[in-house]
Amino acid sequence: MLLQEKREELIAVAQQIQKDKLVPLTFGNFSLRDFETGYVCITPSGMLYDQLKPEDIVVVDVDGNHVDGDRLPSIEKDLHCAVFRKRPEIGAVVHTHSTFVTTWACCNKEIPTIVAEVAALVKGKIKCAPYALCGSQELAAVTAEYLKEDDAILMANHGVLVVGDSIQRAYINAVIVEEGAKVAFYAEQLGGMYVFTPEECETERLSANAGYGQR
Ligand SMILES: [Zn+2]
Repeated sequence: MLLQEKREELIAVAQQIQKDKLVPLTFGNFSLRDFETGYVCITPSGMLYDQLKPEDIVVVDVDGNHVDGDRLPSIEKDLHCAVFRKRPEIGAVVHTHSTFVTTWACCNKEIPTIVAEVAALVKGKIKCAPYALCGSQELAAVTAEYLKEDDAILMANHGVLVVGDSIQRAYINAVIVEEGAKVAFYAEQLGGMYVFTPEECETERLSANAGYGQR
């Protein structure tokens, strides 16, 4: 099977994301890029994550053309491919409707960056791309455009898109962004929060890349 290990990796992360309650039912969609072939493995449309098998994952090229798999890909295939084309260095895209990020997105509000883990992912704030219809070319274009060099972007009245160099990293970033959105939500009730500047975010990014975790 083409890219079997990658498909299995994608399914494992999709199931973990659901266990973490970042997506109910079949909400959200996930993809990873195989840097060797340039192909993208993406979750199928409308299938329960806990029942996915490797053959259910769809393989497309970076322009969204079908390469392998009998299932229909996620309706957000064009969104994932647009982000992969715009950001050649990234290896995975995670799109969720997790509660706190979606709450901010439904108010069309950028999320102030007030925790260090989020500061390492975005410059200043988690920005919000304008609303466009689910699964549309317009949504793909506007979300990829607003993402710029950040690793997370809100999608107005919809959810969030998070990227990473691997599917593991994109998953971790999605958890960080949801936690950051939750903390910012509560901090706003309390008042007086300190928001990281873009420069402080850059310092946090460099520090996170250099020092955290096991060698
Ligand atoms: Zn969605």
